[in-house]
Amino acid sequence: MEKRILAVDIGGSKMLAGVILLTENEEKNRLEQKKYPDFEILKTAGECLPVEISETGILEKIWKLTDDVLKEYPLETIDSVGVTIPGLANDRVWIYAPFSGIQNFPIVEALERRFRKPIFIENDVNACAIAEGIFGACRNVNDFIWLTISNGIGGGIILDGKIYRGSLGFSGEFGHLNVVENGELCGCGNRGCLEAECAGPGISRFYARLTGERIPAADIAKRAQEGEENALKTFEREGKVLGHALANASNILNPAKIIIGGGVARAWKFFAPAMEREFQKNIFQRANVNIKIEPTALGYEAALLGAAALTLPTGQ
Ligand SMILES: [Zn+2]
Repeated sequence: MEKRILAVDIGGSKMLAGVILLTENEEKNRLEQKKYPDFEILKTAGECLPVEISETGILEKIWKLTDDVLKEYPLETIDSVGVTIPGLANDRVWIYAPFSGIQNFPIVEALERRFRKPIFIENDVNACAIAEGIFGACRNVNDFIWLTISNGIGGGIILDGKIYRGSLGFSGEFGHLNVVENGELCGCGNRGCLEAECAGPGISRFYARLTGERIPAADIAKRAQEGEENALKTFEREGKVLGHALANASNILNPAKIIIGGGVARAWKFFAPAMEREFQKNIFQRANVNIKIEPTALGYEAALLGAAALTLPTGQ
């Protein structure tokens, strides 16, 4: 099997388009006893997105970036199209978005008119979880949690090899687990949510409390690398709060693995030891033996690979 997929990752602050080649290796599948394709990212193009954008604005960006990657790999050679959506979507409609200008947007219709190919859409964090299960560290893992930690925190839950959506489609909102009583104000209106405390802006706020200096989380990671004490303390606290929250989640879901992606995962070595300690301290040990918490095996392109994975029968 060989398939060329046009993949689009609409993130909360950036958009990435790419052409991805999926190939099936029968010998490897036989050995792994499951049907997993290999991937190769042939070409990508990306741009930042403004906070306010209309439906037309989003479509114009998609056309621009896909035109760019299709120059080298023309549409006639593409088998299907996968798109990840920030916010909530069903299989035809983008229902809710973090952008102010988009609500109940029938995006699949517009994509079908443009590309005349089978179109698959999915929430971006769920797509990352699906990609990790097909291409990454969760092949042959049926029950796992995916967490994206960047400017916000989103989660995806795979149970029995399938995305668990919940009654209204909003499952896996780990970002709004309450972790600090009367803590930082969260975008959801509550205080002390994991997202408010542990996503990028929360990391900046904590560091500012220690030092009086407000800098982005990525810069704090650089200072941690240089051994600066307050930067190391900030990530130690990050790990502690995260570990506690993940233990609570594990006590409910009993996953085999927890995978962490997003920009903050790049500071792994600074927060992972404290996270692991706090996690072990708070899980019901006998019920949760050997749960592994790992950074994503898919790196920066996890969501783009997620968009490609949606087009596979195992990705739906
Ligand atoms: Zn919240």
